[in-house]
Amino acid sequence: MANEVQNLLKGEFSRLPLAEKIIIKSLGRPIPNINLTQADKSTKAGCFKRHFKKDIYNKNKWICGCGTLNALFCFPCLLFYSDAAEKTWTRTGFKDLKHINQKISKHENSARHMICSTELALLGTASIAAQLDSAYRQNIIKHNEQVDKNRYLLKRIINCIKFCGKLELALRGHDESEDSENRGIFRELINFTSELDTILKEHLKSATLFKGTSKTVQNEILDSMLEVCQQEIRQQINAAEFLAIQCDETTDISHHCQMVMIFRYLHEGEIQERFWRFLSVTDKTAEGLAKCIEEELGPLLKDSPNKLIAQTYDGANVMSGSSGGVQTKISERSFYTLLRSPTELNYAESSQPKSKSKSVFFKPVGNSKFLLQLHAQMRFIGKNS
Ligand SMILES: [Zn+2]
Repeated sequence: MANEVQNLLKGEFSRLPLAEKIIIKSLGRPIPNINLTQADKSTKAGCFKRHFKKDIYNKNKWICGCGTLNALFCFPCLLFYSDAAEKTWTRTGFKDLKHINQKISKHENSARHMICSTELALLGTASIAAQLDSAYRQNIIKHNEQVDKNRYLLKRIINCIKFCGKLELALRGHDESEDSENRGIFRELINFTSELDTILKEHLKSATLFKGTSKTVQNEILDSMLEVCQQEIRQQINAAEFLAIQCDETTDISHHCQMVMIFRYLHEGEIQERFWRFLSVTDKTAEGLAKCIEEELGPLLKDSPNKLIAQTYDGANVMSGSSGGVQTKISERSFYTLLRSPTELNYAESSQPKSKSKSVFFKPVGNSKFLLQLHAQMRFIGKNS
């Protein structure tokens, strides 16, 4: 079996398996006799004909020919050059015998021809990495393009969630069905955004597997956003000199008991109050609540437990009781406590040692409303989650 230009023109060489490519290379270029003549009427001597001579193959090791099309081709470019703009040596064939020397010289000095010749020379001899065929490379490129697109879409969805969080808007609507007039803030915001963003619009129309608007995805995005915030808070607490906690337990809309935890610390001279997370509480006794808090504090304060200089709770006996409340239990174990309620923060400053950072530390600040809202009221709970 020998290579034929017509067969090579039919198949896409780049998509062939490596083994087949190597076979084609080993078979070599087709160099048939070509019935090609060209009349030249421009000479004074009158009309004469140029004929194809086979020694052109010997002089130019890259030229091949097609006996059916009666034309010449470049073997390396025929195999490796995919640009449709350069057709003469790769698709239609060269027939211009009058200008053949100039055209040969021009082509063999072109950058693209040199690259194709190198690729052909390396085929089957280079390392495995170099042999990754272009079909495989194309797949990688396509995959990366899809990843870029998915990231773009996810960013749009995250921005919509952030928007709702900033304005304290609940994500869910009471009726999110297709024909509902009010599908909830998040769905309506996504629809509105898609009117301004054709990529998002196309995605919402055509996606069957992952639209990004389900309640599960919303919950996962909220959890991921909280995790990112917690990483930052963790780093800041590690660098902080002091730490205070504020905790309160409550029952949510689906009657689950949970405790909210807020950290207070100094970061770059500024007081920070950060919502940490909601702790799921099963044991509502002082012992159970204290254990719950310690599980959160433990990893944060493992190297410096004395960093905790204040804990504040509401006035309920189970939290602040002096004989067995959460506050006492936390104090007894590894930390020492200073305060019993948030209001005590106001006069705590005067009772503290004369330390500049401590005096800043006990100054009143704003609340942690935004993050609290983001994770609590927007997150779907109970049966609907
Ligand atoms: Zn070429």
